[in-house]
Formats: sequence, structure tokens, C-alpha cells
Amino acid sequence: MEIKKENRKWLDDLQLNHPLVIAGPCSAETEEQIMAVANELKNSDVSVFRAGIWKPRTRPGGFEGVGAIGLPWLQKAKAATGLLIATEVATAEHVKLALQHDVDILWIGARTTVNPFAVQEIADVLQNTDKIVLLKNPVNPDLSLWIGGLERLYNAGIKKLGMIHRGFSTYDKSKYRNNPEWQIAIDLQNKFPDLVLICDPSHITGKRDMIQEVSQQALDLNFDGLMIETHCTPDEAWSDAAQQVTPDTLKQMFVDLKVRKTSD
Ligand code: PEP
Ligand code: MN
Repeated sequence: MEIKKENRKWLDDLQLNHPLVIAGPCSAETEEQIMAVANELKNSDVSVFRAGIWKPRTRPGGFEGVGAIGLPWLQKAKAATGLLIATEVATAEHVKLALQHDVDILWIGARTTVNPFAVQEIADVLQNTDKIVLLKNPVNPDLSLWIGGLERLYNAGIKKLGMIHRGFSTYDKSKYRNNPEWQIAIDLQNKFPDLVLICDPSHITGKRDMIQEVSQQALDLNFDGLMIETHCTPDEAWSDAAQQVTPDTLKQMFVDLKVRKTSD
């Protein structure tokens, strides 16, 4: 596998802000909630609106997503705001439905990246399409498994690729929800300097108070973008309530973050 400048060209071609900011709720809950968040994010640093429709949860009993009925809500948000839309896919069926609804960016979640058959199934159904696909790191700190997922997508002729660093599970107590283990991301950058790399401080920290600090660390390490969970009433969110920020908090964060110029 040879990751080339061509594999990051999609980012330049879209002429989005730098860093790339992907924001929106952990989960799509209702059409009203989607439209409210998206409208608040219009005309901000945010270029891509995210919302999970299918939510693989570690344990059963939690909210597992509204499913395909949420896809038209995302399309409506896109039409109203001009933001690109992104959602998580975990099966071939999810991919087919997302493609039917013009989802611009698909991401593969941490619980899916650990399963080579699942990643392969997604790669096969996307074979030679020009979709943008972002691959989250697996839950466990295994760089090979993460790169293996990338190879499956690359070998299927998917050219518009990116990786999302969302931290790694640990049994030990930590101030993070998922330890960042920055060295893994740095090793990935060194191995593939032309690969788009995005940080997800929401899932790393699990706490809204720490998101700014981790975002700054990622920008200092030259990450290309940030994915930040955003909700109008975070404490009432149906999933990941503690880590979501309001659109206003998000906007303030980008006033305070120090962004390196790309030429630095
Ligand atoms: C998410 O982005 O809401 C999500 C479930 O993330 P992860 O796959 O990183 O746990
Ligand atoms: Mn989440």
C-alpha cells in the first residue's frame, strides 16, 4: 500500500476550512434536534455535520440509534445549511442506505475497525466508489489492526481516505475515557505522512471540560482536523451526554485554539 498525496487531495479539493471541523451530535435523536444543531453550526468553523444513526454500544440496553429514518434528516440538514454530512457505517447494508441518501462522508467506528471481516464487507460494497471514508482506530491500541483496516479500503480502490484517532480502551483507571496514546498517532503520521489524520477529542476525553486541551494537543501535532460531538442540550443527549458541547462552546473553542498555518 502506498498512501500518496492523491489520497489527501479530497481535503484540498473540498476547499474547506483548515483544520477540518466535523461536529454534530453523537446520535441523531429527532428531526428537530438534528435541524437545531445543524442550523447553529451553519456559518461557523464547522464544515461537516456528523450524527450517528446506527450506534454500536459496548453493552446492550443503551440507545442503539434511530436507524435509517434518520438519513432523510441528515439530507435535510445538508440542504438547509450547506454542510457536508457524515455518519457511521458498520455493515454493508448501512453503506447502501447511506449512499442512497447522499451521505458525503462515511466513518467506520472503533468497534467495527477491530473486525477485519466487517471492514472488508464495507470495503467490498464501496469498491472503486469515490466516497470519502474515515477509519477510526480500533478500541485496542493496535496500530497494525488500524493500518490493516486502511489497507482493506485502499485495496478496494477507495482513494479518499482518512484516519480518526479516538483513543484506546484501558482497564486501568485514567483521566481519559480512552487513552490518547499519542505515540501511536505519531507513528502512523511518520509511516504515512500524506494520510489525512483527524482527532476525536470527545471520545478520548469523555468529558466536555477536557476537549479544548486535547484539541490543542492534536493541532500542535499537526492533525488535519477535529471531530467534536455537539448538542444543543448536551446533558439531555441520548448517548455520550458528558462529552458533548453546545454549539456556542464549540464556536468559542475555535476562537481560543491556536491553529498552526499549514506552511509552518
Ligand atoms: C461516535 O463517534 O459516536 C462513536 C461511537 O465513536 P467510537 O466508534 O469512536 O466509539
Ligand atoms: Mn459518541
